[in-house]
Amino acid sequence: MDEPKTRPGDPRRVFLCAERDRRGVRVASRISVAKPRIATIDTRRVRPPAKIAEAELQTPEHRAWAEEVKRRAGYRCEAIHDGRRCGKAAPAHRMFADHIRERRDGGEPLDPKNGQCLCGSDHSLKTAKARAARFKAWTGAARSRAPYGDSR
Ligand SMILES: [Zn+2]
Repeated sequence: MDEPKTRPGDPRRVFLCAERDRRGVRVASRISVAKPRIATIDTRRVRPPAKIAEAELQTPEHRAWAEEVKRRAGYRCEAIHDGRRCGKAAPAHRMFADHIRERRDGGEPLDPKNGQCLCGSDHSLKTAKARAARFKAWTGAARSRAPYGDSR
């Protein structure tokens, strides 16, 4: 059997293999690798911003701030659940220095008073809540600015 050949540009990536049938006649066998028939669509109306390591978070000043925030907390999560501290701690759990008031909401980026030490799940939870609040505020503002009010 000859080497399989791909046709450049063929979206189905058809491989053509020259084979011989029982009488010794060369025939092309087509082995196709089909793409999924159902395309995936992103139905989210609002997409979260891409996760990129921001330059601001890479500076020595930010690292020092983050270290100070975590050190002050004894490397233990400071989130409170039902009146009790979460208390997950490094090194068993990865700790995150979180801006209590997020930078994009005008929070002071390098003030230790605007920092708290959170475990991964509490940090994700807090980030999601802040995003939801920001989106709610944003859509509320957009609605009040709409000249004909909210038609829905
Ligand atoms: Zn926690």
